[in-house]
Amino acid sequence: MKISNLIRSNIKTLIPYSSAREEFSSNAKIFLDANENPFENGVNRYPDPHQSAVKAKLAQIKNIDADKILLGNGSDEILDLIFRTFCEPKIDNVITHNPSYGMYKVLATINDIEFRTVNLKEDFTLDTAKIMEASDVRTKLFIICSPNNPSGNMLDNKEIKKILDLETGLVVIDEAYIDFAKSVSWITELDNYKNLIVCQTLSKAWGLAGLRVGMCFASKEIIKVLSTIKPPYNINELSQKAVLKALKEEPLFNAQVSAILKEKAKLEFELATHKCIKRIYPSDANFILVKVDDVKKMYHFLLEKGIVIRDRSKEYLCENALRITIGTPVENKYLLQCLNEYES
Ligand SMILES: *Cc1c(COP(=O)(O)O)cnc(C)c1O
Repeated sequence: MKISNLIRSNIKTLIPYSSAREEFSSNAKIFLDANENPFENGVNRYPDPHQSAVKAKLAQIKNIDADKILLGNGSDEILDLIFRTFCEPKIDNVITHNPSYGMYKVLATINDIEFRTVNLKEDFTLDTAKIMEASDVRTKLFIICSPNNPSGNMLDNKEIKKILDLETGLVVIDEAYIDFAKSVSWITELDNYKNLIVCQTLSKAWGLAGLRVGMCFASKEIIKVLSTIKPPYNINELSQKAVLKALKEEPLFNAQVSAILKEKAKLEFELATHKCIKRIYPSDANFILVKVDDVKKMYHFLLEKGIVIRDRSKEYLCENALRITIGTPVENKYLLQCLNEYES
């Protein structure tokens, strides 16, 4: 399949905005090109539009070439860039599974792209046959969320490969929670599938949700075209600095992920002893989906106690289901105490 055939014609011919900072020669010391205020305060200069330092560090951590990385103001911006590059409004469609992350539908709707969903099977696994049935020549994107939000499980690699092998459109795999999973990232498969796009984020395991930095990994060709439409300065100077600092502290990251996983195992064990918890779904993420006796009652009881969890009971296959994020040991202990109180 040729990626260039999937790109919208207006994007194919787009001449991107060339920012002042993109044109400067590397050994310049005096910057009189961008109408900035010359007095130093740490942020008086425009940030690096290519985020070269951050990408170099990420390339090393993720074991991938830097020119196969695109950064966005959160994964949400990256998904929006993907929609706007490949999907013709009112003509093309995208397919995802249900239930899944709510932003996909919002972004498709904003971009006026037909949004098709295919229900997961009862055990939250992919129904690949139905996904294939739902696709047609106007299907530009398949969006797969693995580990899936809100169910928490990884989706089967063999099934995802069948969708990649269709070669009818791009397959976006949202790996927001991959750092908590035992399986390896789809990044390792990028050279085998030209139509694969992997999205990750610094918002979850890396603990940087407030900075708004998402990552996209794909072929050079895909990254290049996405880069032509991204806002030039989409990652601000403070975020770039803070990300670089955090990425250099990998031991801290690893320790926190281990601590969260240990807490998750403990919480799963303890929740199973509570009568009000009817079912605990297996989780490859930093949250647990549980079915309970009475969603509204438990939700409001916990809220009264100062704990907010996510009511997912309106989602397909999630009747009576609540989604609980793993907190600190103290927070998790308090949650269990409150559940004891709820039951008595
Ligand atoms: C939290 C989450 C994200 C992260 O979005 P950001 O914009 O990077 O914070 C992406 N996808 C899923 C499924 C998520 O749950």
